[in-house]
Amino acid sequence: MRVFNFSAGPATLPQPVLEQVQRELLDWHGIGSSLIEVSHRGPHFSAVRDEAEARLRQLLAIPDDYAVLFLQGGATLQFAQVAMNLLRGGSADYIVTGAWSQKAYREALRLAPALGGKVRLAGSTEESGFTRAPRADELDLDPNASYVHVCTNETIHGVEWLDLDAIAATGVPIVADMSSHLLSRPIDVRQFGLIYAGAQKNVGPAGVTIVIVRRDLINDPWVGTPSVMQYAAQDANQSMLNTPPTFAIYVANLVFAWLEAQGGVAAIETVNRRKAEKLYAAIDALPLYENRVEVPWRSRMNVPFRLRDESLNERFLHESDAAGLKYLKGHKMVGGMRASIYNAMPEEGVDALVAFLHDFAARHT
Ligand code: PMP
Repeated sequence: MRVFNFSAGPATLPQPVLEQVQRELLDWHGIGSSLIEVSHRGPHFSAVRDEAEARLRQLLAIPDDYAVLFLQGGATLQFAQVAMNLLRGGSADYIVTGAWSQKAYREALRLAPALGGKVRLAGSTEESGFTRAPRADELDLDPNASYVHVCTNETIHGVEWLDLDAIAATGVPIVADMSSHLLSRPIDVRQFGLIYAGAQKNVGPAGVTIVIVRRDLINDPWVGTPSVMQYAAQDANQSMLNTPPTFAIYVANLVFAWLEAQGGVAAIETVNRRKAEKLYAAIDALPLYENRVEVPWRSRMNVPFRLRDESLNERFLHESDAAGLKYLKGHKMVGGMRASIYNAMPEEGVDALVAFLHDFAARHT
């Protein structure tokens, strides 16, 4: 029996993808072994890797002058890798809108002296408790920065923003951590210098990290950058400078095919919007629950909420779990609850959660 899994990541995957993996695990396409038991340089895996890249390019309309890389180390390694490859002894701007962009900022700040560069805080909404993104007039952007870093969906605080026109107007390349909303909605890749995302939300199993980067930005990494962390070297080697995470790439390719079958990112966005609207509507309508993120910045993917009567937290978690609504406990940094409703969360899962919210509130208020 499959439960409705609201985990923030690793997160629920489309059931048809899991079933296909199961079917193919002993004998992939008649080769007599699984795909994860063969060489990454052989024809079978190479074809899958190429297919995954082609599908991702198609799904996001990625222009040819952008490299698509399948790397390791998670989004966390990108906090360092971005600085190592793009800082170039210059200064980088960071905008902090929640826990993840703050981690990225702190990592870059830590490394900047060794990289011979500087890192600036160009904006922060910390004083609001990370309940929104900054307005254009609150930003202090350096037009000469090597890049400006943002996290466009804050997985813990539930803040999502893609209105980056004020930043783009400086002409400085935008580097975006899209770990928790890549492929959930259309994006204009051209607006970005670099996009990165750990896979374990909308893409596939943990283990692969997607980097989409404009090729003209990657030719001058810091001299001490390890080869596997040099974007240009990975690009020149189809992300196979060393053995790639073949299982994660294989499953990601199946998730891309599943997303194509749903009609692509524009079609899934319609569903995602509807799922999020239903959930926020219930949270706003029922006095027991509260989401403090200002409405225009509410994430469609990660919906944190709290019970105004916190003494009911344990009971809420216990009863929701018993009802097959799993992993609703919020991140320890913010407490309360969080429902992550990625692409693969069926709308029926959100409907079941909404019904539970009403039922629980009726019994406890
Ligand atoms: N950025 C964001 C927005 C995330 O949600 C996460 C993981 N939850 C990370 C970075 C870190 O990813 P990883 O654990 O893959 O390093």
